[in-house]
Amino acid sequence: MKLYNTLTKTVSELIPNEEGKIKMYTCGPTVYHFAHIGNLRTYIMEDVLEKFLRFSGYDVTRVMNITDVGHLSSDGDTGEDKMLKGAKREKKTVMEIAEFYKNAFFEDCKKLNIKTPDIVEPATNCIDSFINMVQGLIDKGFAYIADGNVYFDTSKVENYYALTGHNPEELMVGVRDDVTEDTSKKNKSDFVLWFTKSKFDDQELKWDSPWGIGYPGWHIECSAICMKHLGNKLDIHCGGVDNIFPHHTNEIAQSEAYTGEKWCNYWFHVHHLNDETGKMSKSKGDFLTVSLIESKGYDPIAYRFFCLQSHYRKPLVFSYEALDQATATFNKLLRKIASLKDEGEGDYEYVNSVKAKFIDSVGSDLNTALGITCIYEILKASVNDKSKLLAISEIDKVLCCDLIKKAQSLNAPKTEANEGASNIDPELKAKIEALISERASAKKEKNFARADEIRQALSDMGVTIKDTREGTTYTLN
Ligand code: AMP
Ligand code: ZN
Repeated sequence: MKLYNTLTKTVSELIPNEEGKIKMYTCGPTVYHFAHIGNLRTYIMEDVLEKFLRFSGYDVTRVMNITDVGHLSSDGDTGEDKMLKGAKREKKTVMEIAEFYKNAFFEDCKKLNIKTPDIVEPATNCIDSFINMVQGLIDKGFAYIADGNVYFDTSKVENYYALTGHNPEELMVGVRDDVTEDTSKKNKSDFVLWFTKSKFDDQELKWDSPWGIGYPGWHIECSAICMKHLGNKLDIHCGGVDNIFPHHTNEIAQSEAYTGEKWCNYWFHVHHLNDETGKMSKSKGDFLTVSLIESKGYDPIAYRFFCLQSHYRKPLVFSYEALDQATATFNKLLRKIASLKDEGEGDYEYVNSVKAKFIDSVGSDLNTALGITCIYEILKASVNDKSKLLAISEIDKVLCCDLIKKAQSLNAPKTEANEGASNIDPELKAKIEALISERASAKKEKNFARADEIRQALSDMGVTIKDTREGTTYTLN
């Protein structure tokens, strides 16, 4: 496979450290709030990368952390811990918040067919590993203590800005609220490895350490968790583009200072999903979640399809119109697949040739849009339907859009839901169906507020509705 590498700024052949094996690390979610669909774009593309590598024959081990301590409001070392902010917002403990939003994240992933990485490790499980690594860095002269905190000394490493390719003045740490300059640092770019002092003394989770009671910095978490599970050499490190600086830049500095050798060969970064007003953000109030788009009648897999239609290295603008368009294309594709007859013998030579073409197409810097084109080519091919279905199901092992399953359900007889409701009082039935039809019109006119109101009114009447491709079905509680 050929992949763009942020470190070398070129598309090059992926050559793993160990033949046939790929060690892959993903920066996991900071579990202080729901993931927005922008975060999930990154996880969808990383998921496709992992599945594509397995499909191409690599033995992949993938590790992801869960950030449940140390990620401050700015991506640098200032501001309040995001977890504490979340806990205060909801009047819960940090661990309650972490558990709730970690589960919510994996539920979203499930809806989007994102596979759980082989190893998922919360930061709060690995305090000893962080302390050992920080001590190692102090022993080797790469870290210093100032005003109670342990800092990494960026002046001790060569080429600190290798990943960004920028000089420091051009870089801006994601500055949000409560951000002030830390005057204890020797160099502007130094970063905290271990906090014992911060402006926010109410930090809930703290641990004993050789430098006093405190908590780890966000950057050390990923390096230490990665090395704990994958050793000193990594093949691919993933994240969103906002992670390039300072997070991944700092990860490289501290990891290579610690081991004394090159750490990770390939850096894979997914560009942002933006809304029409700019970058998607959780501080913008009613932000876009999977549940929100689902409540508006969209299939989460149609969102996955929407993401796969565009290249991971291009910013993607989200709008309901764009999602409507992707949904229409997706449904049309499903209807075409549904018309194929699952009969006769498959032509396996053809299926293998499709697989090879697909590997070639997607293998060119994860070109998922070309991968989707392969499906249209299959539909036009002069082979029997059975061979087409077999070929589509192979490709869908990577795209994971449930193409065959969803197409089959289009052919299935009507669900029980409406039949079960057929013996209800005719007056009530007429009222429910009138509301459902009004809701469909409201949705068509993008009057989502009215559509939500009607859903609520139906729910108050004891009616649960479900949006399916054939229309809305309902059950009476
Ligand atoms: P966080 O939970 O904030 O640590 O972010 C989780 C992942 O989402 C990280 O890999 C970020 O780089 C990525 N991310 C953040 N915002 C966006 C966005 N608007 N579009 C795509 N990915 C994003
Ligand atoms: Zn990370």
